[in-house]
Amino acid sequence: MSRYRKYQRKIRRYQKKLSRQKSKLKKKLSDFKHFIYKIGISSTEEFRLDKNSTPISFPSHLGVIFIGEFDNDTILFQSILENLEKIFPSFFFHIHHLGSYDFSTEVFSKGIMKELKDIEESSELLSLHPTNKFHQLIISKKEQYNLDQIIAITDLPLYSSSDNNIIFLIGEAHVPHQSCIVSTLKLRETFYARASNEKLFEERLNKEIIHEIGHLILGTEHCDTQLCVMSYSDTIEKIDNKSTLLCNKCRIRLRIVKQKYNF
Ligand SMILES: [Zn+2]
Ligand SMILES: [Zn+2]
Repeated sequence: MSRYRKYQRKIRRYQKKLSRQKSKLKKKLSDFKHFIYKIGISSTEEFRLDKNSTPISFPSHLGVIFIGEFDNDTILFQSILENLEKIFPSFFFHIHHLGSYDFSTEVFSKGIMKELKDIEESSELLSLHPTNKFHQLIISKKEQYNLDQIIAITDLPLYSSSDNNIIFLIGEAHVPHQSCIVSTLKLRETFYARASNEKLFEERLNKEIIHEIGHLILGTEHCDTQLCVMSYSDTIEKIDNKSTLLCNKCRIRLRIVKQKYNF
């Protein structure tokens, strides 16, 4: 009898533990859903980017746009500006701060109201932003401001329009359209449930921005030198393991571009 009671107590303990875990998990899921709904876009319909692009020449006018909730975009921009001018000297006539941008209004005017409706109707629909939507949006901004290149920095989760298997993409460059995007989501220590570290975040962000702008200038190829900022990095560890600088080989490639455009 006592053994029976002992087992019963054990079972109750496990049941309690299980229900605690369940409610924890439920809360996590609802937080995540809330986050996705807040940004309000599904991936059921993709934008298709047209293949026509305008030829680029250097030096260029580059625009930097912030999409999402950034309360310190002016400070961030200053650091981005200094880094880009250091790594790509004389490549830009001017780097323009296009400010913070509210995504939602443009989304409506882009005619994807239906998708927003879908989300309201289906509480189970969870998806991320395909990068083509960002590219299309910022390419139109690039044209509006008469710029040659544009980079968007967003705190929203992204996935690549060209590869559905990758979720929570960190950055992507669209070379023919001279547009690129960096998502800050995975760059923050808080994403990994660690204490916030602004300095580290800024360094990671600058590495990724230099990397994507590097693609716009040098092409889609990655560098095989691990320390080089143009090496491929899909995890935060790989980003932390590389420097903010170009290796000698990439610096030579940069010089060739300079010679080509004669500046
Ligand atoms: Zn890359
Ligand atoms: Zn390199």
